Amino acid sequence: MTFTITILGTSSMVPTKERNVQAFLIEYNGELILLDCGEGTQRQMNIAGYSRAKVRKVLLTHWHGDHVGGLIGLIQTIFNSEYQHTLHIYGPKGSETRLEHLRKTVDFENPVDIEVHELNPGREEEQLVVENDEYRITCMPMRHGTPTIAYAFIEKEKRRIDVAKAEKFGLKTGPVMGRLQRGETVTFKGKTITADEVTYVRPAKKVVFIPDTTLTNEIPLLAEGADLMICESTYGNEHESKAHEYKHLTAAQAALLAQQAGVKRLILTHFSQRYTTVDHLLEEARIHFPQTEVAHDFLKINV
Ligand SMILES: [Zn+2]
Ligand SMILES: [Zn+2]
Repeated sequence: MTFTITILGTSSMVPTKERNVQAFLIEYNGELILLDCGEGTQRQMNIAGYSRAKVRKVLLTHWHGDHVGGLIGLIQTIFNSEYQHTLHIYGPKGSETRLEHLRKTVDFENPVDIEVHELNPGREEEQLVVENDEYRITCMPMRHGTPTIAYAFIEKEKRRIDVAKAEKFGLKTGPVMGRLQRGETVTFKGKTITADEVTYVRPAKKVVFIPDTTLTNEIPLLAEGADLMICESTYGNEHESKAHEYKHLTAAQAALLAQQAGVKRLILTHFSQRYTTVDHLLEEARIHFPQTEVAHDFLKINV
């Protein structure tokens, strides 16, 4: 299965003419998950061709305006669309109270069914957010002056039937195939068949989102071995002291973290509005980690 990520906004703090503020859409096996919801996210979803009523989960990294400023509008749209589901919202400590306040700012005509899940992982501790048959989402705390959460999407490894090999043993669908898929050894028409003879294990994929943060041990821990790390890089080298002061990362720091975590690919985002071009951020990052790219609004990535 493929994770399809659409980056809806790549600016930090304020929207610019070229870049909206933060939001990512994650599609997996027909499910749509929104990660952060900065102001203007609804319109970005429209332009990208996604129905807002298909969102079942919203993951929030932290309660700064550029990450949550579009939330109340999105909630209103979703529950005005004959939404028959519970909307699950995950976020850091304090999310429940903040959402309660936010909901009071709007008069809702339709019932709003929201379940808030507060996350509070300890330092260097991975907390489970969601788990189902296909994947799990875990999180770790970042350092950003307000409770901030980074998320990892980890696909579960699955055994698949190699149809050509199975046919050689005369195997067709049925309980025997199910047992082989579970890794068991079976006896079929007097022959012993091991799972490895007719199945293969599809490599599981991992995608990690590192939001606003200063340098912290949790980044390489959470991102370890990821196929894709999407990371904030608000500043270039020339503003390293600002990055430190405002608890953000530079592009070079993000690249060094990607290298340390052994990820396959790095995409930089959350750029300061002062940069009309981010070419130099890309250059500074590629010195340390050549497999770096820079994000633009509506960039779609398949992992
Ligand atoms: Zn931000
Ligand atoms: Zn922030």
